[in-house]
Amino acid sequence: MSDKGDDELRFISEDDGDGQPSSSTRRSWRILLVDDDADVHLATVYALGGATILGRPLEFLHAHSASEAMALLQQGGEVAVALVDVVMESNDAGLRLVKFIRESVGLIDTRIILRTGQPGYAPEDEAIRDYDINDYKTKSELTSSKLYATLTAAVRSYSQIRTINANRRGLGMIVRASAELMTVLDMREFASCIIAQITHLLDLPAEGMVCARDVESGVGFHVTAAAGRFAPYQGGGLDEIADRDVRDKIERTARKEQNEFLADGTLLFVGSSLGRDLVVFLEAPVPLEENERQLLEVFCTNIAVCLDNVALVARLQDHAYFDPLSRLPNRTHFIEKIKEVFAAGRAPELTLAVIDIDHFAEANDAFGHHYGDRLLHAISVRLCVAVGPDVVLARIAGDAFGLLGSDEIVNPTFLGELFRTDFIVDGNPHTVSATFGLARLSEVDSVDYAMQDANIALKRAKLEHRGHYCYYTRSMGGEVRARVRLMQDLRQALGDGCLYLLFQPQVDLGSGQPIGVETLLRWRTESGQLVPPDQFIPLAEDSGLIVAIGDWVLRGACQQLVALANEGFTEFRMAVNVSVVQFRHPDFVGMLERVIAETGVNPANVELEITESVAMLDPERIVVLLNRIKEFGFTVAIDDFGTGFSSLAYLQRLPVDRLKIDRGFVSRLAFEGEGKNIAEMIIDLGRNLGMGVIAEGVEDAAQANYLRARGCHEAQGFLYAHPLDADALLEWLRERDD
Ligand code: C2E
Ligand code: CA
Ligand code: CA
Repeated sequence: MSDKGDDELRFISEDDGDGQPSSSTRRSWRILLVDDDADVHLATVYALGGATILGRPLEFLHAHSASEAMALLQQGGEVAVALVDVVMESNDAGLRLVKFIRESVGLIDTRIILRTGQPGYAPEDEAIRDYDINDYKTKSELTSSKLYATLTAAVRSYSQIRTINANRRGLGMIVRASAELMTVLDMREFASCIIAQITHLLDLPAEGMVCARDVESGVGFHVTAAAGRFAPYQGGGLDEIADRDVRDKIERTARKEQNEFLADGTLLFVGSSLGRDLVVFLEAPVPLEENERQLLEVFCTNIAVCLDNVALVARLQDHAYFDPLSRLPNRTHFIEKIKEVFAAGRAPELTLAVIDIDHFAEANDAFGHHYGDRLLHAISVRLCVAVGPDVVLARIAGDAFGLLGSDEIVNPTFLGELFRTDFIVDGNPHTVSATFGLARLSEVDSVDYAMQDANIALKRAKLEHRGHYCYYTRSMGGEVRARVRLMQDLRQALGDGCLYLLFQPQVDLGSGQPIGVETLLRWRTESGQLVPPDQFIPLAEDSGLIVAIGDWVLRGACQQLVALANEGFTEFRMAVNVSVVQFRHPDFVGMLERVIAETGVNPANVELEITESVAMLDPERIVVLLNRIKEFGFTVAIDDFGTGFSSLAYLQRLPVDRLKIDRGFVSRLAFEGEGKNIAEMIIDLGRNLGMGVIAEGVEDAAQANYLRARGCHEAQGFLYAHPLDADALLEWLRERDD
């Protein structure tokens, strides 16, 4: 060791001139001199004073006895090298001090060089090993040049041990820091955490900033977190940072996308694959050492992964809370805002409005989606500017906006005014009308109902007429909710066997003989209450449930028809009601086919009753569909005839077997005076078109006689029979069978 050359030595004057004060503990090697001979102290300082090792000066701690050294060590601080005399106040004072250094104050990295005047006092090999004594020299051996060499070697070795240990600790901290950062999902918190972790890792004062790239512009940076003297800049843009030099450094790092280690600070670039790059700036009183830099490089790569996570979550949150087109809060966000005002007890002062843009879908179809998007954008801009910051404005659906604010702004007059002038899209004026559903939160039962209630009001407003508004009232909500409950019960009923069929006979008006029945659906709820079909059929149609129900009805009706045939009633017709919704269903024909196959029914005896409104849907398609149905052998009747609008020309083209006079016209027969009444006109029409005519709702003989006299063939009504269950029907039929 001692034969290393003197070139290891460099003097302060040759230092890299960073101008750091030598008192800085980070920058000097602390050398502990323990010797009871004052001359040794003088000679050592004379030989080594002013020298630098690995670029750092030496700082001497002097002790003239082991106990004095112990007292000094107890004050704390690192010691790079201890030059210890073996024999001082006792023969083994030096060795006891070594034990103290290692065990009591725990300085395990400190290199220890024992010096002795008397060769006979060399420590045992065991002691050398146990206490990690690095060198043993007689004082005469340590000439001043050899002392340099020995000390330099010891300091180097200390420095290496320190680096290794520091790296090990640092890496451990990085692993822990990353684990912690992994759990942080908020950008601001993440950024503060970075400052805290780095300053902890390197034992630096917390002075710095974390700047994040604006995802939207992709250019600018803003200060996401700041500590120490930079704290006031948190949340602002880079241009707000008063210290121009710092600003330039951050900008440079952002541009170069590289870490930069300067004498007075460190700049780290943490790249994000999602564009949320970070620049970390930390002010440091002294330049970082090589191993510290390496640690930071590792730290950066490590946190880049965490950063991506944070950026991902931020993006998801952004998506989850903002509508990308208008940059307004979306429905989810809006509902949270409503919850907030309820939680804060502010609800009673506020009104909720839902604005629905009329005919938006048509504008979209006519001019394309891009046009539609720009129109929506124009609308959102106007709304945003008009309602101001005190009103929460959100885009809650494709063509609907939500508003939450005081009655002064969120009212139909103010909002209606906003749609009075055209919106400019691509330089062209576009007239937009809107419908408003409003709910005063004071009238809303609970936060969960607020949006629903505004939507109920909106639906009502749309029913009344477009371009209008409606305020929610409690009774409105009651009706709608009862409907929803009924719908849920109905769904249940289909599975639970609470639905059943009745059959109402139809007779030949001439002979009075039964010719068939109409199948009528009944629903008795679990509690035994009968719900009229006029109430639940429209519900089933609204919910689409009618498709499954209709399938079940047709199947049941066909089974009944087969059963009647087995009883001998072979030339017998079974009429079944078919709803518009069923009829339009793409699998309607498939359903018919399956029912025929499964029940073995003769379709020629099955009559499908469609309403006039079905017949009026889409002429071309209906004709094709009706022809297919007729190919199976089914007959078709138009139910409630006369209540809808049928053009004669169109009616002529429909392959229909029968017109069913609505019972409203039958019941009015007695009150109608001179001239042809509607029932009579329908009978004539049927005759002219070669169609059969059946009258429904015939309640008395006078009606029956009148209809018969006018040439109506068939009738159905309470005069003959009420709707009957299967057993009662069979009995009824047998009574009339001859
Ligand atoms: P609808 O098809 O016009 O059925 C005739 C309705 O008139 C039946 O009422 C029947 O009970 C009633 N009715 C029969 N004779 C008389 C009478 O002499 N006087 C009076 N005042 N009424 C009479 P219901 O059973 O309450 O059915 C009402 C409506 O519900 C039906 O009108 C039909 O549109 C619908 N509906 C019933 N069952 C079904 C079904 O299975 N499927 C579909 N899609 N709709 C059905
Ligand atoms: Ca009917
Ligand atoms: Ca009818």
